[in-house]
Amino acid sequence: MSSLSFSLNLGTLFPVLLAITLVRVLAMLHYASLRRVYPGFRTLMYSALMVFSGVGLLLLRAWAGELPMLVFLSNMAMLVQGALVYHGLGQYGRVPRLRERTRQNCIFIVLVSSLQLADVLIDPNMERRVLVLCAAAMFMSIRIAVELPMRGVRILPGWRIMCFSYLVTAALQVLRAYNVLTIPEFSALTMQTGGVIGVYAILYRIMQGSLELYVVFAMNSAMLEDDLHAATARIEHMAQTDALTGVLNRRGLELLGAEALRTSFLAGDSAAVVMFDLDRFKRVNDTLGHAAGDELLRGVAAMCQGSLREGDVFARYGGEEFVLVAPRTGEREAVLLAERLRVAVESALFPVMAGERVTASFGVASADQGGLEALLQRADAALYAAKESGRNRVELSTGPGLRREAAA
Ligand code: GH3
Ligand code: MG
Ligand code: MG
Repeated sequence: MSSLSFSLNLGTLFPVLLAITLVRVLAMLHYASLRRVYPGFRTLMYSALMVFSGVGLLLLRAWAGELPMLVFLSNMAMLVQGALVYHGLGQYGRVPRLRERTRQNCIFIVLVSSLQLADVLIDPNMERRVLVLCAAAMFMSIRIAVELPMRGVRILPGWRIMCFSYLVTAALQVLRAYNVLTIPEFSALTMQTGGVIGVYAILYRIMQGSLELYVVFAMNSAMLEDDLHAATARIEHMAQTDALTGVLNRRGLELLGAEALRTSFLAGDSAAVVMFDLDRFKRVNDTLGHAAGDELLRGVAAMCQGSLREGDVFARYGGEEFVLVAPRTGEREAVLLAERLRVAVESALFPVMAGERVTASFGVASADQGGLEALLQRADAALYAAKESGRNRVELSTGPGLRREAAA
């Protein structure tokens, strides 16, 4: 019977970490070439690149020996990687004053790296160097694991888990420091074989790297989806809004007006449609110009929009024709409403008209059942009657639409 035996040490794990990190960088590069990526994505990609460089330098150290520059650079790469993760996750989490916090991290890294360099150049002591590095990495990991979730404003899928995963990194640094302090002869050999803690630290780093790859894609996709929803909402709003006056257009009226009617009718109330058309508007265009006509349309729309009650739906129906759908409004009330609007238009002084008055003719229709289309047709017919009988007046449609009328 054969038995499978294997042993894990840093010599076998570092190349694995190196290969997996390379795949991570390439996968992120590929994603960034296909999809829009948000601030934070590239920073996290650079952090993976920094892991790759750091591990590469460590392998070089194992091969070429403890050259001062290699020690300095590999230690620095490890800390810079932490600072990049901090910044990248901070960008995704919209952490306030992130630049300032990252600047602190950079100063910290420069200080620690200088200490390490001085150690190697002046009085080489591996135990001390490892202890300083453990303390620095622990500090950086705790900043990621504790500070970011406390300060993050936008919580994306996986973001918190990613931050918290650095708690384990910090704990592993504590154990590593403990190892250094308790192993009497902490030697280069321990560095190379890694010891149990070193092996688990690298295994954990491999797992964390995979988690990071998943989380960065999940966060980026969530943001893409949010942007898509916002864009759809903007397009929907634009499709229902009149570009000239900013009030609802006919499409918006059909959607929101019909909804307002339905709610009224379901509650057993009547609702009314008031349609009006500016009188002799062509003359305004002809005498003052089309731009002045536009300005007048904007003025009338703004004035009416400003006098709406809650639930009222106001829209530009066509050229200089406007419609107001008034829910929970009976016939008499609707006529009074139209009359108030008529007086308001008549008495308004629109700057573009240079003192000349504007009037409008109104058609009103009310119902307690049926659809918007039928009410619009009746209001239009009443508006036509108002034009026919001299303009600047309100006419009520007496057509069908009220159940009580039908019953009588
Ligand atoms: P009436 O009293 O019978 O309504 O007379 P009117 O001159 O207002 O006649 P009508 O309603 O038929 O004329 C509408 C005019 O509105 C015709 C068109 O040139 C003008 N118009 C339509 N849309 C716009 C617009 O967006 N801007 C401007 N400036 N004019 C428009
Ligand atoms: Mg007109
Ligand atoms: Mg008209």
